[in-house]
Amino acid sequence: MSQKLLGKVALVTGASSGIGEATALQLAEQGASVALVARREDRLRALETRIADLGGKALVIPADLTIEAQALEAVQRTQAELGRLDMLVNNAGIMLLGPSAEATLSDWKRMVDINLMALLYVTHAALPIMKAQGSGHIVNVSSVSGRGTSATSSVYSLTKWGVGAFSESLRQELSAKSKIRVTIIEPGVVRTELTDHMTHEATRTDYLSVTEKWQRLESEDIAAAILYAVTQPPRVNVNEILIRPTDQG
Ligand code: NDP
Repeated sequence: MSQKLLGKVALVTGASSGIGEATALQLAEQGASVALVARREDRLRALETRIADLGGKALVIPADLTIEAQALEAVQRTQAELGRLDMLVNNAGIMLLGPSAEATLSDWKRMVDINLMALLYVTHAALPIMKAQGSGHIVNVSSVSGRGTSATSSVYSLTKWGVGAFSESLRQELSAKSKIRVTIIEPGVVRTELTDHMTHEATRTDYLSVTEKWQRLESEDIAAAILYAVTQPPRVNVNEILIRPTDQG
């Protein structure tokens, strides 16, 4: 079977679990060399082994992307050790839902730091490389919460609306002139570890009591949407994919 991404290089943030892990695997299955970036090195090493077992190539880069220098180094190591940077999947993120009046500033700051600032650090480092190559594809993982909002998702939505605004502006700036494509991915509820980190217990319980009754999306479903976007011919820029579980209504 032909591999659609042979010779290409991808960097996937948040590759240690969930959507990022599934995406890195699907890109590698299509022949891309993949830089795996997140904090949990043991999980990245396990994925590296799975990719190697498929005959693919992965580069493990343990990094806390909320630290600007580590984000920059992750991009620079990808180019230095894998030779180029064709696809950047900005996926790392957290979702700390809860009522604003009861939230801690620390939870808000954590979301802004990883969902927005880390994405900006990595993208800022990647742009000169892609411009010099005369090609590139940036895939930013937003959310259904980047298109709408709800009572408990004020700051999570703020970050994801920010991802949408930044991505659309980047697309207008870079698509025609620099041949750098930009795609926004907006998942509904996906069965991952995302809810494990929520600190407002009542909100977490309510969220799970509703969504666990649904047949939620799997990480592989979102990875397949990302793979679709990055395997289109250069003339096609898939701008946005909104994908919900059928049960989400
Ligand atoms: P997971 O919790 O499984 O994955 C989150 C990833 O982000 C992990 O790999 C984690 O790695 C990484 N990450 C978190 N903080 C940092 C950091 N400081 N530095 C580097 N990496 C970090 O959840 P999902 O796969 O569900 O989430 C992926 C994306 O999808 C997020 O942006 C999320 O907002 C979005 N999304 C998810 C939905 C869902 O229902 N699951 C719905 C809509 C959007 P590590 O802890 O090892 O650093």
